[in-house]
Amino acid sequence: MDGQPEALIDLDAITANAAALRRHVGAAQVMAVVKSDAYGHGMVPAARAALAGGATWLGVVQLDDAIALRQAGVDARVLSLHGSPDASHAEAIGHDVDMTAGTVSLVQQIAAAATVAGRPARLHLEADTGMGRGGAIARDWPALVDAARAAEAEGLVRVVGIWSHFACADIPGHPSIEQQLAAFRAAVELAERAGCQPEVRHLANTPATLTLPESYFDLVRPGGAVVGLSTLPGGAPDWLRPAMTVSARLIQVKRVPAGTPVSYAHRHFTSGESALGVLPLGYNEGIPRHATNLADMLFTRGRRVAIAGTVCLNHVVVGLGDHPAEAGDEIILFGPGDNGEPTAQEWADRLGTLSYEIVTRFTGKVPRTYSGVTGTGGDVEVAVDGRSDGQVAAAH
Ligand SMILES: *Cc1c(COP(=O)(O)O)cnc(C)c1O
Repeated sequence: MDGQPEALIDLDAITANAAALRRHVGAAQVMAVVKSDAYGHGMVPAARAALAGGATWLGVVQLDDAIALRQAGVDARVLSLHGSPDASHAEAIGHDVDMTAGTVSLVQQIAAAATVAGRPARLHLEADTGMGRGGAIARDWPALVDAARAAEAEGLVRVVGIWSHFACADIPGHPSIEQQLAAFRAAVELAERAGCQPEVRHLANTPATLTLPESYFDLVRPGGAVVGLSTLPGGAPDWLRPAMTVSARLIQVKRVPAGTPVSYAHRHFTSGESALGVLPLGYNEGIPRHATNLADMLFTRGRRVAIAGTVCLNHVVVGLGDHPAEAGDEIILFGPGDNGEPTAQEWADRLGTLSYEIVTRFTGKVPRTYSGVTGTGGDVEVAVDGRSDGQVAAAH
């Protein structure tokens, strides 16, 4: 044991979350948003697990991620949510990837790419109804619709979707929610009056999917909820299961006298004769440096233990007190919470951030392993390396 930290991803939880979301939204379809490597859970395995649970669409940010899903053999509908110029549009069209456009010039670029690709692009028009990020604001919307209709008339694009994004869906009751709903309905109506016949109109992210049935339209776009998380106050409901558990093993345990200063800047002193443990991961591997001196946020041998002193680049010291522990013991940083370990939501609440930010930190430098065999409900352990190449082969 070298104490190697790992992020264990429970694919069955992802499948079950997608299925629960399907039931929750009734007639609407579910697009599992698997951007940011599925919030650090591994894009391709998470996508497959969500599809096995009944998601029928996938959402990514970059076109290259959409193409990577195709290259991994995923044939569900995939939408790239960033409308970005100078991306691989022709290649994406060739891979039957749906694209977003929120500007006239992008519609024209994509139409030109469709000429190259030799088939029409599937386009989703993005309305900025109050997020103030991508998409066309109300006064630019008619021109965007006109450009898309012109390209449709030439047979270069098909407007298959109209969408927008909430700014404040995780602040239930926020007045902008109703305003965005109304603005979205108006944008859809204008586009349909102009002749667009979208297959899907979509607006709801995780918090809207969980709290706002009038936002479902034809399709909901949860990302966090698929991996068991939410940005709503209090986190996700208990019918969603967090899919990531991060753990590592103590590489050293030693007893020290009372008053021993610990780690950089001596921000912690032991209060009595006690044990200190060392974990081989720090802020390089994903523990926020703000977690310095965070009490009772680690878990080992059935008990919460504390981060003692400053989080280092590649280490963190664990205050074990009188709790028995030895080198090699597993420490859980966060998980679903079944056994008393903290959740990513608890970390986020302590650190004043979102659970999404916690889980996406533990990627890349912490190898991922997977449990669960999607679609079978089995719990066979399947080891996959840190790359999200999606080769979730059956275990022996
Ligand atoms: C990230 C994102 C989502 C998913 O958000 P969650 O809160 O994780 O569900 C949906 N739509 C768009 C446009 C996004 O950028």
